[in-house]
Amino acid sequence: IKWPAKRVRDTYFDFFKGKGHKFWPSSPVVPHNDPTLLFANAGMNKYKPIFLGTADPNTELSKLTRACNTQKCIRAGGKHNDLDDVGKDTYHNTFFEMLGNWSFGDYFKKEAIEWAWELLTKGDSSLFIVYELPVDRIYAGLLPDHESRDIWLQFLPPARVLPFGCKDNFWEMGDTGPCGPCTEIHYDRVGNNRDAASLVNNDDLTCLEIWNLVFIQFNREIDGSLKPLPAKLVDTGMGFERLTSVLQNKMSNYDTDVFMPIFDDIQKATGARPYSGKIGLEDVDRVDMAYRVVADHIRTLSFAIADGSRPGNEGREYVLRRILRRAVRYGKEILKAEEGFFNGLVSSVIRVMGDVFTELKELEKKITEIIKEEEASFCKTLAKGIEKFRKDGQSVQGNTLKTVRAFVLFSKYICSCLCRMLLSYGRHGFPIDLTQLMAEEQGLLVDVDGFNKAMKEARDISKNAQNKLVAPLSWMLMLSSTLHKMGVDYERRKLIAPNHTC
Ligand code: ATP
Ligand code: MG
Ligand code: MG
Ligand code: MG
Repeated sequence: IKWPAKRVRDTYFDFFKGKGHKFWPSSPVVPHNDPTLLFANAGMNKYKPIFLGTADPNTELSKLTRACNTQKCIRAGGKHNDLDDVGKDTYHNTFFEMLGNWSFGDYFKKEAIEWAWELLTKGDSSLFIVYELPVDRIYAGLLPDHESRDIWLQFLPPARVLPFGCKDNFWEMGDTGPCGPCTEIHYDRVGNNRDAASLVNNDDLTCLEIWNLVFIQFNREIDGSLKPLPAKLVDTGMGFERLTSVLQNKMSNYDTDVFMPIFDDIQKATGARPYSGKIGLEDVDRVDMAYRVVADHIRTLSFAIADGSRPGNEGREYVLRRILRRAVRYGKEILKAEEGFFNGLVSSVIRVMGDVFTELKELEKKITEIIKEEEASFCKTLAKGIEKFRKDGQSVQGNTLKTVRAFVLFSKYICSCLCRMLLSYGRHGFPIDLTQLMAEEQGLLVDVDGFNKAMKEARDISKNAQNKLVAPLSWMLMLSSTLHKMGVDYERRKLIAPNHTC
């Protein structure tokens, strides 16, 4: 292949190093010293001290004016949570690399846009090898920001410079602080002279966002007003897996050499039929979806553990626990994998990524051990949970809802069986998202917000209780009464997979 992943990455670095940028390595995906952040979710996180003007003047960081790198990111919680899309779509991953270039008080919109254009489209730059994407596939989405628009109009016809609102094109770090307009670059995978403008920012897999150029020029004050910043900053982020899919002429992040070797190993480990890569706008193929979930999640677990986290009960650790459980369940239920298949995939991730992220190689044993332990304990829970759910689910499906009375009985029944199941959460650690997933497959909806609220209230009470004996008791009482009060919202829905029993 002309654009193996490694070349895609190296070309980005070479290009920006050639434009005077210093290579600045990725920070850990687990931001140990930033409690405001669950996981690193963008390249700029590690430059926050520069953005906020708090960088120690004696450090190399404070002297940076131009930097570039690939940042390890996880978006599976907090402000950016893509977990629910992962597996269902083909371009959101929980773990991904974000290629980026930065200017700290140095160049601004003109250079940032011109260089992005040069890197993406120019074919015979005398100095650098560049990506040579066809220019008629590229769309820019931006705020009505005249400066950026005028620059884009040098390269693109007005019909492909599209106005969007603040949701997509105004970046803010928080309620106050540095912020500014951005330009997102989108790529039409189909071409053939079609007009894809209406597909931009529309959840369409044939037309996807690849790069975001953020121009930080304001400070959001406490009163909500925008004050111009003395030193302007550029912060860009390009999805490495998305760019690679585009350069390899594929329709999906997963059809590239970033994921296919992992798919091959999943196939060998599970004996499932090979990944078909059928991604239509029709129904999602469940086996393919399971491949995507498992491959995505083993990357996330491997990187997060390499950077010092692990599955557990609170905060980021709980996010990792849920991700692991989601993957194991998909593997077992859909790909019919044997217990232990998941930790066996760590070596695949290392084969694909270990040369670039050497921490994976160094910690292979530890990563595998932690996943193995967690996988084994979850498999026990899962076996119990599935059995229980199958029983409950079957009797629920046996009901027909003819009268109001049936409705009342039915909802009481669901409520009580789900309450029992949710209450066993504490003991068996059967997570709500799995309950939800399994309930959905049976045509039921679980009141997740209510559950989370009940859990939070119960936790708070338990935390505040002084008496160690009273605490667990009050926790259980509180949880059970809130769950009974809240009821369980349900509706009959078309079964997603009528023959799928789990
Ligand atoms: P989208 O609108 O597709 O969710 P975004 O606007 O949330 O993307 P940004 O925050 O602008 O994404 O991040 C910069 C780039 O990182 C995006 O242009 C995209 O290429 C890539 N990216 C964002 N989220 C993901 C993800 N979950 N998986 C893979 N790449 C991603
Ligand atoms: Mg997003
Ligand atoms: Mg976007
Ligand atoms: Mg974006």
